[in-house]
Amino acid sequence: ARASGVGNWSVFNSDMGRVADHRQWVESELHNAFERGDFDLHYQPQLDLPTGRIVGYEALIRWQHPERGMIPPMEFIQIAEETGMINPIGEWVLRKACSDARHLPDDCFVAVNISPVQFMTKDFVGLVRDTMRSTGIKPSRLELEVTETAMMQDRDRAAAILKELAEMGISVAVDDFGTGYSNLSYLIDFSFGKLKIDRSFVSRIDTDASSGAVVSTIVGLSRALGVSIIAEGVETENQATLLRAAGCEVVQGYLFGRPAPLKFSAGDRHATDEV
Ligand code: C2E
Ligand code: CA
Ligand code: CA
Ligand code: CA
Repeated sequence: ARASGVGNWSVFNSDMGRVADHRQWVESELHNAFERGDFDLHYQPQLDLPTGRIVGYEALIRWQHPERGMIPPMEFIQIAEETGMINPIGEWVLRKACSDARHLPDDCFVAVNISPVQFMTKDFVGLVRDTMRSTGIKPSRLELEVTETAMMQDRDRAAAILKELAEMGISVAVDDFGTGYSNLSYLIDFSFGKLKIDRSFVSRIDTDASSGAVVSTIVGLSRALGVSIIAEGVETENQATLLRAAGCEVVQGYLFGRPAPLKFSAGDRHATDEV
């Protein structure tokens, strides 16, 4: 037992080493990747269940490394936040998504994930304003997805930023809703347009009755606040049915479409892959 304990310890140790190596590699490579143009955006549809209509697309970043292949956002976003690379990357994402919007149907918006770091960066609102001006996107066609965590770092500042964005006609969705804070008082002070129910509730809704209760409660909350609601990570018909029964009619997930690159084919106004 003792011997295997020692063995485990050394395995553990070399795993830690690998994690540290990978981290260091990502850190040093992010800048090159950005300069090289390794990044791309994929788009995943958001649908209105009763009509089946696509109402918007969420932009999701992809890093295609020339030698190492696809590196998922979970492996680099946090590191980019810690090193500050998230600012140029996030600016690029916003600009690209707003300019890609012209290739999406006119009645669809594009939803862009904004890192807490970027959201709190000096003059984030100015960046949004410039980007809208240079890409010509209408404010009604841009939505920003921001997590609770981002907004709670400095509530007064966050409230002011949200107010300015709302005045510009830009909707903000609270991303990963339900996973961050149990104190919901911020919902009263903040101008936002949508709650996005986290996948962790959706994935358990058909096996766990209390997840259904949580979803119904969030739907009731959104109605009381007068904001929209969407559920993410819908993978099965049964989950979709239960969400609809709970009052959530707008959905996103593999069941309806995976994130995919924009694809342009001649004469195709909608010009998106798979959708
Ligand atoms: P998120 O904002 O919660 O995005 C949803 C994630 O769930 C995406 O993973 C999406 O591909 C995945 N997903 C969508 N439908 C399903 C489903 O039915 N089942 C399952 N299992 N997963 C589903 P992805 O693209 O790997 O992104 C992970 C996270 O990385 C995102 O979580 C977001 O926090 C962050 N991220 C992605 N793109 C960006 C970006 O452009 N900027 C920033 N700041 N963060 C980003
Ligand atoms: Ca999101
Ligand atoms: Ca999520
Ligand atoms: Ca997230």
